[in-house]
Amino acid sequence: MVLLPEPGRHLPIVQRFDQGPSLLLLPDLFRETFADLDTSLEAEGVTLLKCEPNYKVHFDDGECFELSTDMTRMKREVEKWEGKDGFERYLGFLREGHRHYERSVTHVLKRNFPSIFSILRPSFLRASLGLHPFESMYSRASRYFRTDRLRRVFTFASMYMGMSPFKAAGTYSLLQYSELAEGIWYPKGGFHSIISALVRIGERKGVDYRLSTAVASVNLATLGSSHHRYATGVTLATGEIFSADVVVINADLVYAYNDLLPPSSLAQDLSKRSASCSSISFYWAMNGRIPQLTTHNIFLAGQYQASLDDVFEKQRVPTEPSFYVNVPSRIDSTAAPDGNDTLVVLVPVGHLPNPSQGSRGLDVLNGQDWDELVSSTREKILLTISARTGCSIHDLANNILHESINTPQTWKSTFNLDKGAILGLSHHFLNVLSFRPRTKHPVFRALFFVGASTHPGTGVPVCLAGSRITSEQVLKSCGMDIPWNKRAQSLEPKKWKTIEDVSDIDQPHVFQFLSSLHIGLLILLSISAFWVSLYSSNSGKL
Ligand SMILES: Cc1cc2nc3c(=O)[nH]c(=O)nc-3n(C[C@H](O)[C@H](O)[C@H](O)COP(=O)(O)OP(=O)(O)OC[C@H]3O[C@@H](n4cnc5c(N)ncnc54)[C@H](O)[C@@H]3O)c2cc1C
Repeated sequence: MVLLPEPGRHLPIVQRFDQGPSLLLLPDLFRETFADLDTSLEAEGVTLLKCEPNYKVHFDDGECFELSTDMTRMKREVEKWEGKDGFERYLGFLREGHRHYERSVTHVLKRNFPSIFSILRPSFLRASLGLHPFESMYSRASRYFRTDRLRRVFTFASMYMGMSPFKAAGTYSLLQYSELAEGIWYPKGGFHSIISALVRIGERKGVDYRLSTAVASVNLATLGSSHHRYATGVTLATGEIFSADVVVINADLVYAYNDLLPPSSLAQDLSKRSASCSSISFYWAMNGRIPQLTTHNIFLAGQYQASLDDVFEKQRVPTEPSFYVNVPSRIDSTAAPDGNDTLVVLVPVGHLPNPSQGSRGLDVLNGQDWDELVSSTREKILLTISARTGCSIHDLANNILHESINTPQTWKSTFNLDKGAILGLSHHFLNVLSFRPRTKHPVFRALFFVGASTHPGTGVPVCLAGSRITSEQVLKSCGMDIPWNKRAQSLEPKKWKTIEDVSDIDQPHVFQFLSSLHIGLLILLSISAFWVSLYSSNSGKL
């Protein structure tokens, strides 16, 4: 979070940016984290604001598409581009996303994959049927939408996993599903309000935080006469030593293996693994408002696939970028003073080079004119926003009171993100589940990991789900009870009779078919038949 003083004064604070997250997705995972800590978002003073519409998507031909949780709005928007039957196909797309979401939350986000055999768990194998892990998001969306425009609209969110929709597994349509079914939220006061609440809860429970304190290395010792090594604490950049029974590393995992632990072949392998993208991010404190922008705005490149290939395949700054503009002040009045906007522009770009891949990647140090790359990207962004929203480029450019910028280089140097990859390791098949670096160090005891590059993966709610998994592993290793398990058992949800497949609904059910009216008629007919047969046998005797 960056807070800017009012120009010409030292206090008070007037414009606020989150440098990283702006979309709060999967809100239930936030609620569950607070419930695990015996409290709630509300009790801790965290207010979630619902963003409506979800996004305004701007195309290069000047057309727009508004994504919304409002069914009426979505029906109108989808039918406009896909025709009358388009809405039924949209519902089919949601149904598939729902399945991806529910199965992934239960079987991936809430389960650990501590060994290669975890992937063979029968419950996981059963659940993975129908997750479409070997088909791309774009190809799954193409089964539901005929127009390229809507295929783009329903796939760009793969970039939140740091992947191209042409490569990301179909499973990740769970992201769009979550946005459309549960909404996009924004924590009032910015994402920092959630972190502050977690810090307060920790302090109440006795946690002692040391902020702005860089760790230089993890300390290791050998266990007795064996060769087993275990973590004993950390050494700070100041030279101070902290002892600990257990060390949990939250810094970027690839950086930690390479910079905080002794050199190893595993550390080298990790830095060769495919990483997510980086970004050039602009943070603009505006004088005045840009009413043409909503809270979340997406500007898609005309050459969609080529632009994505530039980022994810060629590791470049794309010639024609697709980018995201967030206006926190549109949803949260505390982000800027009345009548002004705060803008965050995120342009996905390739990550810094990996030594093992020759010169691939944005090579900042070796001859690329980095200032030129940033300045030409800035110019393209301003021109695109102006051309597609109709706001004057003059007003836009001249009303930027203050600007901060993050680049792949600053993501690396300031936040220790390996290769400046903002979302950690990529999420292609060989980098997830049992193949993702483990939450426990494979060799050193009492050493654990949490965060974007370990299981289950990137994004704030996913990392929160991961923190539960790592905590459970730490508690078990110390022989301690898992406190939230008892609460979960007492709150076990009612077991509903499930309909395995929606098509079951259309099957005639024999007992439903035989309504009480039918049964009454059947009884009446049987009685009449009995009397008729009795009468006819008696009349025969006569
Ligand atoms: C530009 C951007 C936009 C994003 N947008 C979204 C979004 O809209 N929604 C969403 O859910 N997610 C978003 N994400 C992703 C999300 O922020 C990350 O996946 C998540 O924060 C990762 O959590 P983490 O705990 O792994 O790492 P971090 O949150 O990065 O925490 C790691 C911490 O370790 C510290 N650290 C590093 N090295 C050391 C050291 N040597 N000593 C001491 N401390 C150290 C760092 O300073 C940092 O505080 C975004 C990320 C970025 C960068």
